[in-house]
Amino acid sequence: MTFYRLTGILLLVFLIVQGCKSSEEFTGFSYDPEGVTETTTKKIQPQYEHAFGITADGVWLSNEFDGARLNNFYQLNDTLYQAVISPENAPINNSPWYAFKAWADQDTTVWVQLYYEDGEHRYVPKISHNKTDWTPIEDKNYRVNHQNGTAQLQLQLTKEPLWISGQELRTQDWFNQWADSMAQQSFVKQQTIGYSHQERPIRRMTITEVPEGEDPGVVIITGRLHPPEVTGQMAAIAFIEELASDSDLANRFRQQFEIIAYPFANPDGVQNGHWRHNAGGVDLNRDWKNFNQPEPRAIRDDLLELLDGNPNSKVYYGLDFHSTNENIFYPINRDIETFPEDFTYQWVDELVKAFPDTKFTVEPFDTSSPITKNWIYKTFGADAVTYEVDDNVDRQKLREVSQKSAQIIMRRLLEEKSENDN
Ligand SMILES: [Zn+2]
Repeated sequence: MTFYRLTGILLLVFLIVQGCKSSEEFTGFSYDPEGVTETTTKKIQPQYEHAFGITADGVWLSNEFDGARLNNFYQLNDTLYQAVISPENAPINNSPWYAFKAWADQDTTVWVQLYYEDGEHRYVPKISHNKTDWTPIEDKNYRVNHQNGTAQLQLQLTKEPLWISGQELRTQDWFNQWADSMAQQSFVKQQTIGYSHQERPIRRMTITEVPEGEDPGVVIITGRLHPPEVTGQMAAIAFIEELASDSDLANRFRQQFEIIAYPFANPDGVQNGHWRHNAGGVDLNRDWKNFNQPEPRAIRDDLLELLDGNPNSKVYYGLDFHSTNENIFYPINRDIETFPEDFTYQWVDELVKAFPDTKFTVEPFDTSSPITKNWIYKTFGADAVTYEVDDNVDRQKLREVSQKSAQIIMRRLLEEKSENDN
């Protein structure tokens, strides 16, 4: 062996080792805080639930309801009150959730400034008089200060409470009602598969009409790992409703496929009005390698048990629903072999053509990060996508896009399965 050949081989070995190393050393995306992949339980700052009153003025704010976030309230000057919003722990991604109710002893109009510790204003306020129906605040009642990351809201207060929230309030009760109504259908089954840090149930929803003895294709759905990501949950719900609909396509799909869904995967975070984390102070979409937290662990164990119990089933696809500041799909890098091959790129391409006036971005990633989608790929070899919905998308458009996505995916998966079965 010549010196040059030996050097060449050593160089090759070095490059391979480096290559493997770099793909194992994921430490966070550009927007993640430092240490995000350190997923052992951390201390969180509990939110003290009570009504905050400026008694001289008879103006009141309160966080005494599920999903609320308000940490302090006081008068800043003659014309402005300040609501302080703090995260469950820090450092943390900038998704500062807030939700509170407000009222006054006598009818009055006030300006309230939202001031965030460890964050900057992000969510356009939604207003409700009954905690169920929400409308975005009117422009004339809302101003954002991009220099200091605050926002000011003008509120007309009466004795009746007014609810103010970063997005529509979609708490565990709301989700359970929806899930229970879905489970009225014979082909939808629900089960509690584990418990969160604070002992709230994690529910699985199974949707299928595959005849006994036949081999189902499997689609895995996860959602609401991040509490404020309400538009992602709305998309997941519209998507699941389409899979459970009475259309000819959905009926055929359920004859061939089993949908295994965990659409409300971080109940503690939602109920406590968290910005990002579970009650263990951890980003649950960074724990799919270490599984230090009970929520991803419960989902992993449940899926492995279900699929081990039915060795003839085959996972075809995974979708993990989230929200951000745009509609964006994160597929797996094209040069990585998945089953089915290139599936995300193909259906997203069709979706984009169906909505020529809507902006969608596609940003591929490698599989090094410890996120849900990558665990699905690494465990089952299946293709999977992180489906991110714009925070500010029109809610009707959101539903239409989600239904269309479900239709395209059902049709294409039926084609894939028919090819695969033959
Ligand atoms: Zn997210």
